[in-house]
Amino acid sequence: MYTKLLFLEDSYKKGFDADVLSFENNCAVLDQTCFYPHSGGQESDKGIIEKNGNIFSVSEVKKDKGIVLHKIDGILEKGDKITGKIDWDRRYKVMKYHTALHILSRVVFDLYGGGVAGNQISPDKARIDFDLEKIENKEEIEKRTNEIIKEGRPVKIYTLPREEAEKVVDDKTRVDLLPKFIKNIRLVDIENFDVDACGGTHVKNTKEIGEIKITKIENKGKNRKRLVIV
Ligand SMILES: [Zn+2]
Repeated sequence: MYTKLLFLEDSYKKGFDADVLSFENNCAVLDQTCFYPHSGGQESDKGIIEKNGNIFSVSEVKKDKGIVLHKIDGILEKGDKITGKIDWDRRYKVMKYHTALHILSRVVFDLYGGGVAGNQISPDKARIDFDLEKIENKEEIEKRTNEIIKEGRPVKIYTLPREEAEKVVDDKTRVDLLPKFIKNIRLVDIENFDVDACGGTHVKNTKEIGEIKITKIENKGKNRKRLVIV
């Protein structure tokens, strides 16, 4: 039993039909889904599941190994045919922030050489932590990031065997640190700017992001800096 992740192929897909494979503790497992489960710092999608005209809301989506658990406010049964629809407004905002963080991480890496220690992406803001003692020039980071956004660079997604992926990325992306059981690496390629390994949802072109603002840079320990963007 495993869930086909439709968002990996098409992050713009908003609705889908699916079969219920199991239902336990208010959580439905489906054969396929557009709902992004909370992972990699990206918050989970919300939305609705419809069965025979009854609409249930999906409040939380989690991943447990290869299975996606959709928490709903209703009862489903194994074998039910459902239609799912994600809250697109929320998802699209998250996609924009997620792609913005990729740009930001490259800008910071080029300026200071700091690796990414973690991130959190919500519909209304995002944050990213760097292994850096100092980040001095907030304005410069913001300016460079917004320049790349405005340039309207295509964002391509593709998957390569591990050894091929290692050749495509540079020191910013530590493919060697990814778990060994991952044989194929999904890459997010912002044309002529940055390639990173990522399983998240992204916009197709950087211009969709609009404009970002760095609201603060926080100290999170001696060698840890956190940037918050809106
Ligand atoms: Zn990502």
